Amino acid sequence: MSKILDFLSKLDVSYENGVSEREQIRPYIESMRSQFEELADRPDIIDTISEGFPPLLQIEKKEITYQGKTYYYDQQRKIHNRYYRFMPKYIAMCFTTQHVQSIVKMIPFFDGPIRVCSGRHDHEGECMGTDALVIDLSGMNSVQVFNLEKEQDNNYAIIDPGIQFIDLITQLNQNGVGIPHGTCHSVRVAGFSFGGGWGPWTRAKGMGCESLAGVTIVLGDGTVKELWDEKLLPKKANGEPVASMTDDDRKLLWALRGGGGMSYGIVTSLVYKTFQLPPYTTKFTVSWKNGKALEILEKWEEIISGDNPDLLGTNLKIMAKSGDDQSTGQGCYFYGYYQSSDVDQNAIRKVIGQWFHSDLTPDDVTFQDGLSADPGENGLNSNSFWGGLSAWDRVIDWKDNSNSPLQYSGLKSYEFIPPEVDDPAPRKITSKLVKAGHEGGGLGKAGREILIQSLQSDLLEQKGFDAGLACYITLGAISGSFYTEYNSEINKKKRGEYDGSAFPYKSSPYTIQYQVWWNQNGVNKQADQYVNKALDWLEWCRDLDFPQTYGAFISFKDASIPTAVYFQESYAKLKDIKRNYANDPLNRLSTRKTII
Ligand SMILES: Cc1cc2nc3c(=O)[nH]c(=O)nc-3n(C[C@H](O)[C@H](O)[C@H](O)COP(=O)(O)OP(=O)(O)OC[C@H]3O[C@@H](n4cnc5c(N)ncnc54)[C@H](O)[C@@H]3O)c2cc1C
Repeated sequence: MSKILDFLSKLDVSYENGVSEREQIRPYIESMRSQFEELADRPDIIDTISEGFPPLLQIEKKEITYQGKTYYYDQQRKIHNRYYRFMPKYIAMCFTTQHVQSIVKMIPFFDGPIRVCSGRHDHEGECMGTDALVIDLSGMNSVQVFNLEKEQDNNYAIIDPGIQFIDLITQLNQNGVGIPHGTCHSVRVAGFSFGGGWGPWTRAKGMGCESLAGVTIVLGDGTVKELWDEKLLPKKANGEPVASMTDDDRKLLWALRGGGGMSYGIVTSLVYKTFQLPPYTTKFTVSWKNGKALEILEKWEEIISGDNPDLLGTNLKIMAKSGDDQSTGQGCYFYGYYQSSDVDQNAIRKVIGQWFHSDLTPDDVTFQDGLSADPGENGLNSNSFWGGLSAWDRVIDWKDNSNSPLQYSGLKSYEFIPPEVDDPAPRKITSKLVKAGHEGGGLGKAGREILIQSLQSDLLEQKGFDAGLACYITLGAISGSFYTEYNSEINKKKRGEYDGSAFPYKSSPYTIQYQVWWNQNGVNKQADQYVNKALDWLEWCRDLDFPQTYGAFISFKDASIPTAVYFQESYAKLKDIKRNYANDPLNRLSTRKTII
């Protein structure tokens, strides 16, 4: 596929601590010059490579070791959505910005597709590809926390793109700070941030991307840029004031905040503005086995559009039913992420009781974390928060807790997290957003009826559910104090065109995510006969005449939805930024759902 990459894959470099890559690569450079004519007039490429080059995994080279850790081709090529399987030509294991820069300089000499991956959670598998050159940043996974004393408004963390949330949140929480992260333990911060980043803090703190204050990015030609938004973080940890960003850089950072992954360059470091954690946080689940979905939905809409500032974030899950299901209700689960100033579970139960009474009384209210959970050996009460972050968007039959990957010795409440939390499995997702302005702050009566009716279909069968097929919607609240303030007239006037983010749904009350998952508890061959029909149901829901909704959320990626639909009013500007600032004239940094 590429003679130069084949040559570079054979570099005999030891990636152990203290051994200079530069010294080891030097002997190869002269040989490169003489072997490859195409490099003759590209001293910049030779110079870049001679500073460091990432180890390449291939079918023929199944493992590499970097600083004591071994990485395997067959492991790295697997993605979270097991519906897809890929056999890349090369997987460039990048551990430094230098590595990314060197491999990006090689793109012109490779004819196949280019893919970029951090956490491999892309629902359409656009992070991986057969015969592709995959630029893999999952080995870059540390975080540095900067708490400037007394200056709570200028605290931040510098985060590697490949860190997964369980590790990131652990380290942030140990320092008493947080970011608006996602819910699943293994999603990684890179793709999450560029897609927008919905989560348990969205009502109070906005989407994750609103707190993205800077990045280090390698553009399409290998140029490295450091962007830092002085309006979000005016000072660095050493007290030095941050210089104003240029207009061009501001546009690029704006695009990275919700404009989708990969399009604008490859990000090797993210600067996140952090916030102080509230004294106590918890997650509760209010459940109805056979709930009146229409009424519960109406109530939930009222809650998210009302004045409930302690409800930091929430989502509602409603199960789909088979066409012949005669029952009057269906499974409904209201997940809430809640803050309080004191350990008082009963006070929260009382609030929930006021929300849902008489004929909406739930079957159960549980605190998966429990406000009374052991606060952890380091005494930070908010650390108990993580216990509540099990995956809201999965329906799993918790069977075996014995091999939990999530236990963490310092924080006992971690043991509450079921281990299967977000194990890889096949699935298909599609999404819509609710338009603002309807009665009650949600879909309105007619819209609610369309949504709930879409959840009963002849394409779905009880036998399929019994075989482990899970079909449902999850609704993720966006409306709350953060976007109320963001959208206020006074703030609109204060903000420049490229301040804030490209995330186009700041006025939408919530996301609607239709989901079909199977084989979540291991392969069940019985499920296969029901999968295609369930996928037809999902596509039917996607195409539904549903005038109270619009758009789609790029992080809940469905490649069949046109790109313009995802990005709405930001689309034209994002295409412009890609063309003018990504230094990628041939659009090599592209997949089906990148901006161009
Ligand atoms: C189980 C599960 C739970 C989820 N929960 C949530 C949730 O709570 N909230 C939410 O908002 N989303 C959620 N998502 C969606 C998730 O945020 C997106 O799929 C996200 O893109 C994943 O990012 P990643 O880095 O893990 O995955 P990847 O597949 O590695 O990357 C996703 C995209 O970003 C690009 N990309 C990756 N790294 C870089 C980089 N360093 N520079 C430039 N581009 C890059 C990739 O090319 C790809 O297009 C969930 C997904 C799953 C599977």
